[in-house]
Amino acid sequence: MDHFVYREGRLFAEEVPVAGIAAQVGTPFYVYSAATLARHYRLFDEALAWGPHLVCFAVKAASNLALLKLLGEMGAGMDVVSGGEYRRARAAGVPGERIVFSGVGKTREEMRLALEGGVRQLNVESEPEMRALSQVAVALGVTAPISVRVNPDVDAKTHAKIATGKAENKFGVPIARAREVYAEAARLPGLEVVGIDVHIGSQLTELAPFEAAYTKVAELTETLRGDGHDIRRLDLGGGLGIPYARSNEVPPLPADYGALIRRTVGHLGCEIEIEPGRLIAGNAGLLVSAVIYAKEGEGRDFLILDAAMNDLIRPAMYDAWHDIVPVTEAPAEAARAPVDVVGPVCETGDTFARGRPLPPLDEGDLVAFRSAGAYGAVMAGEYNTRPLIPEVLVSGDHVAVIRARPTFDEMLARDTIPEWL
Ligand SMILES: *Cc1c(COP(=O)(O)O)cnc(C)c1O
Repeated sequence: MDHFVYREGRLFAEEVPVAGIAAQVGTPFYVYSAATLARHYRLFDEALAWGPHLVCFAVKAASNLALLKLLGEMGAGMDVVSGGEYRRARAAGVPGERIVFSGVGKTREEMRLALEGGVRQLNVESEPEMRALSQVAVALGVTAPISVRVNPDVDAKTHAKIATGKAENKFGVPIARAREVYAEAARLPGLEVVGIDVHIGSQLTELAPFEAAYTKVAELTETLRGDGHDIRRLDLGGGLGIPYARSNEVPPLPADYGALIRRTVGHLGCEIEIEPGRLIAGNAGLLVSAVIYAKEGEGRDFLILDAAMNDLIRPAMYDAWHDIVPVTEAPAEAARAPVDVVGPVCETGDTFARGRPLPPLDEGDLVAFRSAGAYGAVMAGEYNTRPLIPEVLVSGDHVAVIRARPTFDEMLARDTIPEWL
């Protein structure tokens, strides 16, 4: 459920007409609904209310400071995967004790940043990383709380580019070797084992892969406790999917996910951490774009938008499907004809949808991509020297630009022509 609804044929973001925002900030832009974001965070929080837990928003899904501040003030923790994201979480006011640091290649500099600034735990993904962390912690004279990310060799049944829990993926240590790794962790100075971490992938639409992974984590918890490790936290990762296509099956609800967690690991008495990103932010954001031209091709028609693959890369990168809707609702009797919805970038990959049935749209008409709040703005680039597009936050009838569109002068000023040229 989200707060982007039509009223008398006009698309609203909460209490604000989307067309009004377009007139104010220009297209294309991202717009987020605070109420939707808050609602999704709360659903996870409630799904785990049966025991001690922390919902750590995966900052990489949507990392604007205003969004992080909103979630942080509700009590959310943050899952960060870089020094940059750590800085964002802190700048948004989230205390270190609510930040977990994940990622397969944390540098010593990033480790220092987190240990000095405060961190709930670092999720260690390999032995070399664990040894480096031990050295960094000893040099700083502190103890680093760690969980080891285990790779449970479970098929998440999602797009290959976002599956992370199979043995061939780069993530975590093989679960079969976990005992050895924990034994070394206990021997190394400067480290304190606090738990186990697992994350098997993103956009999962079934519970079965989670169940398989969490069952293995439960067994491992007992084994490691038998070996003398104080396993008191389980970080179960993120990955719950959202319905991008209305017609497709509906992914499990956070409540069902929470019940599954209780069933698989609830008996262990551990504090539960989860790291949802997409389900919190995905349906809380729209990408709004204007039609530049409606073009007739050979046997197919194109709708050329002012948004492109550099603004929303998911269709080009993951063959992702986004619902595309007119900002001014078409009359029910309007005929729908298949069009290819494309951007102006000079690549055939700059295609958002093929043969999508849409009502008649023409120059200047506005469309909105639904479910664009996660892995949208954060993955944007400036290919074709297209400025990063603005982000707007709506809450009730409040509207704020939370990231402004850069000017071309600002963009060009980042380049330097050497004196000797
Ligand atoms: C990407 C990622 C997440 C978030 O995944 P979603 O599918 O957005 O919920 C959580 N944890 C880790 C370690 C990740 O890499």
